[in-house]
Amino acid sequence: MSIEVQFVSKSYETQLALNEISFSAKKGEIIGFLGPNGAGKSTMMKILTGYISPTKGTVSVSGIDVLKNPIAAKAKIGYLPEQNPLYQEMYVREYLQFQASIFKVSKETITSVIKDVGLIPEMHKKISQLSKGYQQRVGLAAALIHNPDVLILDEPTTGLDPNQLQEIRTLLKKLGKEKTILFSTHIMQEVEAVCDRVIIIKKGELLIDASMEELKEGNEQSIEVTFDYKIEEQFIQRLPNIRSYKNNFDNTWYITFNSSEDMRGVIFDFAQENGLKILELNSKNQSLEALFAELTA
Ligand code: ADP
Ligand code: MG
Repeated sequence: MSIEVQFVSKSYETQLALNEISFSAKKGEIIGFLGPNGAGKSTMMKILTGYISPTKGTVSVSGIDVLKNPIAAKAKIGYLPEQNPLYQEMYVREYLQFQASIFKVSKETITSVIKDVGLIPEMHKKISQLSKGYQQRVGLAAALIHNPDVLILDEPTTGLDPNQLQEIRTLLKKLGKEKTILFSTHIMQEVEAVCDRVIIIKKGELLIDASMEELKEGNEQSIEVTFDYKIEEQFIQRLPNIRSYKNNFDNTWYITFNSSEDMRGVIFDFAQENGLKILELNSKNQSLEALFAELTA
């Protein structure tokens, strides 16, 4: 396992920030770590990276116990903290060279990491001159500089504009092909766009640990479809996996399916086989966002 967390609890004086959290991650998984503010996400990440100790429990990264072997474990981990403390007065390349010196990384590797995160045009600028999105890339480059197996990224997309968001998501997907990534966020669409799995915590308790498929399976799927002319109920009943249906008005039907498969294609085929045209088709899936709101309400 790339990440193994067993029965981790953490108390800050009297407050219990994490209560017996256990989960694990395999190589190549991208996991979204979700939870409202104060859920304990940053606390969990600081424990995973060896910056603070749990009150109880064990954590290991790439098979190395983070508490017993913090230095060896840190060599396997790239960490982007929530408030990333960049040295504003340093130049991009200079800062990354400084970070690399801790791990004896070659000059060529530094250049290739700068290239991977798209910072070549900015590498001779001062960090303070960069936009928030580019500063975030510097943080990511620093986390990647020693080619770690596991990336722990604490809210890497917070404060980015939509373009920057898209760029970072693409980068995460690319990195996730070779590395295990655990990243925290409170943006649901992000999890849907990037992750294989989602872990949801609230007030230090683990609520959900499931693959994206599992999450979607539990959900019923509703589709509103408008045909070019009125059709009979018996016709609609021929669709597979139907749970319920309703004739909203004229040629519009609201159909609910028991299926994780995207039923839009099935409806298109159905229309074509029966000589019907579809004028409008809307998926009314219960989104992860709604699920999250329900769970953390
Ligand atoms: P998240 O990252 O999900 O917003 P945190 O891990 O930062 O949550 O915080 C979890 C809880 O622990 C919060 O209630 C927070 O106030 C508390 N907490 C975090 N750090 C400390 C600290 N150093 N001392 C005392 N309480 C803390
Ligand atoms: Mg946090």
